[in-house]
Amino acid sequence: MYNAKAYSAAGATAPLAATRIPRRAATPHDVQIEILFCGICHSDLHAVRDEWYSVMPTVYPIVPGHEIVGRVTAVGSEVSRFQPGDLVGVGCMVDSDHSCPSCRDNLEQFCPDAVFTYNTPDRHGTAPVTYGGYSESIVADERFVLKVPENLELAGVAPLLCAGITTYSPIRRWGDIQGKKVGVVGLGGLGHMGVKLARAFGARVVVFTTSPSKRDDALRLGAQEVVVSTDPEPMQRHAGSFDFILDTVSAEHDINAYLQMLAVDGEMTLVGAPAKPLQVSAFALLFGRKRLSGSLIGGIRETQEMLDFCGAHNITADVEVIPIQKVNEAYERLTRSDVKYRFSIDMASLKG
Ligand code: NAP
Ligand code: ZN
Repeated sequence: MYNAKAYSAAGATAPLAATRIPRRAATPHDVQIEILFCGICHSDLHAVRDEWYSVMPTVYPIVPGHEIVGRVTAVGSEVSRFQPGDLVGVGCMVDSDHSCPSCRDNLEQFCPDAVFTYNTPDRHGTAPVTYGGYSESIVADERFVLKVPENLELAGVAPLLCAGITTYSPIRRWGDIQGKKVGVVGLGGLGHMGVKLARAFGARVVVFTTSPSKRDDALRLGAQEVVVSTDPEPMQRHAGSFDFILDTVSAEHDINAYLQMLAVDGEMTLVGAPAKPLQVSAFALLFGRKRLSGSLIGGIRETQEMLDFCGAHNITADVEVIPIQKVNEAYERLTRSDVKYRFSIDMASLKG
């Protein structure tokens, strides 16, 4: 075991602060990684503030962070796919049971024993729960370590490990989206990746936002049209016209307003995870035989596919790079939807 510098929160109302955490020495199948950048996902904020207490209560102290990119510093004796110096990523999971039907289907995120990157009981007993990427290093099983294309700008790669795969997976699962009309609700970390990826697959994208100030950015990111959701005229004009809508909103909102925009047999997928249940009008689904679904990150094989796709198409997140000392300020801005469009923590700031 060794100690690593990190940032943790001691309780739901406590700020994140500098600390030291135990990390295990690499076991035969482990990869030890020096973290270079870690994205700030809204899930980190939900978890730190224990907003998901009814589903996944937070164990304190919590070290968040599951959008990790870094360099391999050491590998266990059995590790074959990585060597020191390799550029790698770790996303939302660090282990699973490797044997259940979901794992066999490359859907480790649905494994009943999935070990998430933070706030899951630590199988190795290094600490009560796993500790995430707001840290100078992490140790993970090689099966959960991703290869990162060398051509991409690293600060913008980190968010691909959650925001990227969480939007890539439902877009791919929907089918051939080329030429289809796709809505993206909410232009934050997930939403802006959804726009870039849907466009890269040839969709016609309309962004729905509550922030009129994001209009020009949405167009620059690849949207063909931007609708401010408080504006009744365009909300009415688009009724019944979408093939697919991706809802990335982090807070309570009226999803029926978007269900009514789907065409017959259209589908809306929720990836946003508001703490409170959302109300669904049966009629919004019945008329038009519409489907409402959800999606959780993506499996490891699909995450690698997404990273390779982003490498080939030169896609990264639009990031605001911050030192870790500004993390609490970043959280405040995230609650106000004031991020363009992902905070990426430069972990070199932790060394100072
Ligand atoms: P984010 O960067 O904060 O973006 C969320 C966006 O939602 C905001 O930028 C804002 O966009 C919109 N929004 C916020 N409050 C709203 C409200 N009250 N009404 C309507 N729109 C509102 O968050 P994120 O990191 O993209 O995460 C989004 C959600 O996805 C979070 O709940 C997160 O936990 C969840 N998530 C799920 C998965 C998964 O696997 N399913 C993975 C990662 C994250 P506008 O300003 O454009 O309106
Ligand atoms: Zn996330």
